[in-house]
Amino acid sequence: MANDSGQKVVLITGCSSGIGLRIAVTLARDEKKRYHVIATMRDLKKKDKLVEAAGDSYGKTLMLLPLDVCSDESVKQCFGHVKDRHIDILINNAGVGLMGPVESISIEEMKQVFETNFFGVVRMMKEVMPDMKKRRSGHIVVMSSVMGLQGVVFNDVYTASKFAMEGFCESMAVQLMKFNVRLSMIEPGPVHTEFETKMMENVAKMEYPGVDPDTVRYFKDVYLPSAIDVFEAMGQTPEDIAKCIKKVIE
Ligand code: NDP
Repeated sequence: MANDSGQKVVLITGCSSGIGLRIAVTLARDEKKRYHVIATMRDLKKKDKLVEAAGDSYGKTLMLLPLDVCSDESVKQCFGHVKDRHIDILINNAGVGLMGPVESISIEEMKQVFETNFFGVVRMMKEVMPDMKKRRSGHIVVMSSVMGLQGVVFNDVYTASKFAMEGFCESMAVQLMKFNVRLSMIEPGPVHTEFETKMMENVAKMEYPGVDPDTVRYFKDVYLPSAIDVFEAMGQTPEDIAKCIKKVIE
C-alpha cells in the first residue's frame, strides 16, 4: 500500500535525537523518494537538529508531529493528523534507559521505564494494527536491544522492559503474519547517542545502598571498563542503524 504519490507512509517515534532522528532523515532523503516520513517527538522545541539534518526534505518527504508515547491523549491527537489514519510502516524507536541497583530505584521510576519502553510500543501498535489488518498490509518495526536478549548487571529494569517487549512482539508476530502484517525487532549493541551520555551521567550519580560489595566491585572494576571498551571499539553510529532499518523495510 502507498499514499497518492506512491510513497509508503512511515511514522517514527522519538525523533528528537540519536537513532530516531537519523532513521527519519535517512528515509526522508531516500534517493527514490519512496517514503513519506511522519517524524514525531514529544517536545517540538527540540526539532531544530532534525529540521537541519532533513534539509530540503523537510516539508516535502518529512513532516513533524508532536507525540508522547506515554500519553493516550497525545497518541490520539497525533493520529488525528494522519490522513485516513493509514500508516504503512510504524517504527517504534522512542525509549529510555535506567541504570542502577534495584535497591536505589523506586517503583515509580521503574514504572516510567515500562510506560515508555513497553506500554509506549503497545499503545502505538494498538493504534495501527486494526487498519493494517484490514488492509492486509503493513510493517511494524520495534527497537529492542541486545539487552532484550541478555540480562546485564544494574541494567535490570531496562533489560526487563526490553525482554517484555520481545515477548509481546514474538507472540504478536504470529498473529499479524496471518494478515500479511510484518513485525521486525531490531536488537542493536552499543550505539553512540545521547543515550550513552545519559547512562554515564546515571553511573556517576549511582548509589549502592545495601548492595553486596562484591557485586559493586564487579560492576565498577570489571563490567564498566569492559563495557566502555566495547563501546569505543565496536560502538555503532545512528547512521549504521538507520541503514539497517532501511534494508529491513525495503
Ligand atoms: P536517545 O536518548 O538519543 O533517543 C531517545 C529518544 O526517545 C528521544 O528522542 C527521546 O525524546 C525519545 N523519548 C523518550 N521518551 C519518550 C516518550 N515518552 N515519547 C516520545 N519519545 C520519547 O537514545 P537512542 O537514539 O540511542 O535510543 C533510541 C532507541 O534505541 C531506544 O529505544 C533505546 O532503548 C534503543 N537502543 C539504544 C542503544 C544505544 O546504545 N544507544 C542500544 C540499543 C538500543 P526526548 O528528547 O524528548 O527525551
